Amino acid sequence: MSILVVGTVAFDTVETPFGRAERILGGSATYASLAARVVGAPVMLNAVVGGDFPDAHVQALRSRGVDVEGLVRDAGGETFFWAGRYHYDLGTRDTLATHLNVLATFEPDLPASYRRPEIVCLGNLDPAVQASVIDQASGGAPLVIADTMNFWIDSTPDALRETLARVDVLVVNDEEARQLSGESNLVRAARAVRAMGPETVVIKKGEHGALLFCGDAVFSAPAYPLEDVVDPTGAGDTFLGGFAGHLSRCGARDPETMRQAVVVGSALASFVVEAFGPERLLDVRPEDLDARVEAFRRLSAVPQILPV
Ligand code: AMP
Repeated sequence: MSILVVGTVAFDTVETPFGRAERILGGSATYASLAARVVGAPVMLNAVVGGDFPDAHVQALRSRGVDVEGLVRDAGGETFFWAGRYHYDLGTRDTLATHLNVLATFEPDLPASYRRPEIVCLGNLDPAVQASVIDQASGGAPLVIADTMNFWIDSTPDALRETLARVDVLVVNDEEARQLSGESNLVRAARAVRAMGPETVVIKKGEHGALLFCGDAVFSAPAYPLEDVVDPTGAGDTFLGGFAGHLSRCGARDPETMRQAVVVGSALASFVVEAFGPERLLDVRPEDLDARVEAFRRLSAVPQILPV
């Protein structure tokens, strides 16, 4: 199943208590595309960059098998820029800068070959732009999987509500779920978010794993306990791409495949945080992923317990 990934392709400046990286490759669509490629899913990328975006970055995506026909270059402008600083626990961060630059005027116009994907994967992006992509790509009745973040929940709440009504699977972190729903409890928050449209909701809880609300069931996946976390940036987008990639690989969207997809997404996210930016994701091999998925299974296997 082909995946259309739309989101940001960016320059990021990241500060953690342990290091700093300046103007490195980032963006929600970058992480999501690369993650989906690790599981071998066919990925079509639609995003905009400025005249300052190096060809070497485009080549990095292309060489991993990402279709970049829809990566638009707005030569007169600058690439989207984001800067963030992580706190000591690496679980929380402050956004220091969000410069929309070329994104401010970006109106996606999908190439003809992008218009019938089986999965639409909407990375973090202006919800009005997300809606326009759904309009253009809905010919084949795709599964729409989307992410959003506090920036859009605060700045464009009405557009976000309209887009959510057209989303099948929403992937958000715990704070975003609370903010979106106005509920502090995550089970209640998920119910409220599902009432806005998405039939399935995934709530990511950083180092505490992820919850999947699908059909009548709830599934809880752990996060992999890593000893060296270098840079959490992109973990959420990597999860999104890995989740979509697994559904694509299996050609299915039933609850069991969704559960597996949560584990694949979590396993891929556990790689990306091991280095700054997408560096680690760029060289994860399928066998590395298989080994980590197996480690996840062992991590959360509940032993049989005799009834009391
Ligand atoms: P994550 O750590 O998964 O939340 O994603 C971080 C990535 O999202 C960074 O690479 C940023 O370039 C990108 N990003 C940050 N803010 C925004 C925003 N408002 N809209 C779209 N992408 C963003």
